[in-house]
Amino acid sequence: MNFWARTTPGEASFDYRGAAAWEVRRPADGEPVMRHLVRCGVCARELTFTVHSIAATERRRMRWRRGVWASGVLVALGLVGLVSGHLGLAVAGGAAAVAGVLASVFAWAGGLTEAGVTGHGSGLPGVLPQHAVVLSPPSP
Ligand SMILES: [Zn+2]
Repeated sequence: MNFWARTTPGEASFDYRGAAAWEVRRPADGEPVMRHLVRCGVCARELTFTVHSIAATERRRMRWRRGVWASGVLVALGLVGLVSGHLGLAVAGGAAAVAGVLASVFAWAGGLTEAGVTGHGSGLPGVLPQHAVVLSPPSP
């Protein structure tokens, strides 16, 4: 669990060392998600994380991959608009292409980091949560 964080002026920074390890059971395929409550050894906050089964984690990864493909389609449509020769379509196409690229990077990163554990910012690409979760072993 944890332990790095963004340090910016005016924000608290977190310098956690010696990460504690919790062993939690992942639900069997077909079982509902499990919520696990842990207490941070540094700030003493009680944190609830949601753990998904391996099959559910694979479905979540598939959703991220579909997001990458959908974003790619958005980029392609945007490029078609860009070369259409109409100013309005070109502007909209350029905006769609940029949005598609950003969304595809977000979805790609989400697929890479999807571990089937969510809560407190864990599992969200681009988020550096105070209490990040690292699985051991890292993925199913
Ligand atoms: Zn803490």
